[in-house]
Amino acid sequence: MLDLDKIWRDALTEIELSVSRANFITWFRNTSLSRYENKIVYIDVPNAFVKEWHSDKYCREVLRILRSFIPEAMAVQYIIVQQPAGEGKVSRENIIPTPPVGDQAVFNDFYIDRETNLNPKYTLDTFIVGSFNEIAYSAALGVVNNLGSLYNPLFIYGGVGLGKTHLLQAIGNRVKSVRQEVKIHYMTSEKFAVEYINSIQNKDTYLFKEKYRKYNLLIIDDIQFFSGKLKIQEEFFHVFNSLYDMNNQIIFSSDKPPKHIAGLEERLRSRFEGGMIVDIAQPEFESRLAILKSKADSKSFPVDSEVLEYIASVVIENIRELEGALNSIIGQSKIRGRILSLNDVKDVLKRNSKPVKTTSINQIIKAIVDFYNIEERHIFKKTRKKEIVRPRQIAMYLLREDLNTSYPYIGQKFGQKDHTTVMYAHKKIGEEIERDKKLYEEIKAIRGILYESRV
Ligand code: ADP
Ligand code: MG
Repeated sequence: MLDLDKIWRDALTEIELSVSRANFITWFRNTSLSRYENKIVYIDVPNAFVKEWHSDKYCREVLRILRSFIPEAMAVQYIIVQQPAGEGKVSRENIIPTPPVGDQAVFNDFYIDRETNLNPKYTLDTFIVGSFNEIAYSAALGVVNNLGSLYNPLFIYGGVGLGKTHLLQAIGNRVKSVRQEVKIHYMTSEKFAVEYINSIQNKDTYLFKEKYRKYNLLIIDDIQFFSGKLKIQEEFFHVFNSLYDMNNQIIFSSDKPPKHIAGLEERLRSRFEGGMIVDIAQPEFESRLAILKSKADSKSFPVDSEVLEYIASVVIENIRELEGALNSIIGQSKIRGRILSLNDVKDVLKRNSKPVKTTSINQIIKAIVDFYNIEERHIFKKTRKKEIVRPRQIAMYLLREDLNTSYPYIGQKFGQKDHTTVMYAHKKIGEEIERDKKLYEEIKAIRGILYESRV
């Protein structure tokens, strides 16, 4: 006979090591193992929110851990069992003191403003602007100067490490410094969920609702975590409406645009799409170099410009990695007690780098001009000739799709074209591929030339 209580206690001890303290308390409080039958482990949870979150996020990890106690277990199922708060069967509530709500461990290097939850290290002054993020930056300024009226909501999306959190928090910090009366709050979508679930468990959801209604500027980072969590979305929908109806500003970030967030309720999606949507693309070489220069300056550690250029040319994925590379160079210099030569730097970076991306802007353009049999210089020229315009639009499309190059940068590349022209081309080709079999085949063939020979 299995001692399920003991198994769950032991499992919790392990789970506790792999999740943050706040998450552990929120999602594992008042849970228990109630049954093991037909290779299925049944876990009691206190409500639908916890069930949803578990099924989405923890279920695999929990099963993995449980299998070290019950090797034949094949699956985990959650059962909602209403319990009066604080009376879970094997609850560890009594063992662990309740910490402050939310997960602030990630910010431990700086003081966090308790009221706004903003980290003062993120400012607009230290935010480097280049063609990859200038649209997002100007939208941010628009919001700062026209809170609640110009772009509401503002939705900023882009890949990891490209500066979304920095920009979001910088908006908050700027507003705070110029308009003290504005009530600001920054949080991740995950923390929103954690707070809400805590308020259910503490039976004070009315306080939660009141709290959110009073903000004039609510900033929610990484909204993609709402994906598939319909109950939280429903609650958030009401918060959104009450803020929006009173012309309070709301800002979101996400790793993808609303239409690509799976499991997002239609009415919430249409709210997100009702304001301004802007993206941050991957920075191109010039921007990467500018960022490195500024970061090196702020660390007041001398780094050769040759070295900075080298880093900017090989670390291309995102800004967090650029910072990481710079830090390891500076760290190594300190350890070795000397300025590193370019060769040393190559060595250091080689040790912790991934293989570089296999295609470049120039390769894409070359593949297209070869394919359509036009001269390369013509594709950059001002002309309305159909045999040029079409390949040019396809080039813009592929640069955007495959390399995530920013619209303004593509515009510059093709003879100072406005970024809206590029957006138009990207959209047009994207739509036509769906309908036009011939175009579809052409693009497939071009991609074949680009990628197949080198995998
Ligand atoms: P994201 O939220 O998109 O994953 P972050 O905002 O956390 O990215 O940015 C990663 C790191 O890069 C942070 O240290 C941030 O300060 C820095 N960073 C990002 N964008 C810029 C920028 N435009 N100028 C200066 N630093 C930046
Ligand atoms: Mg972020």
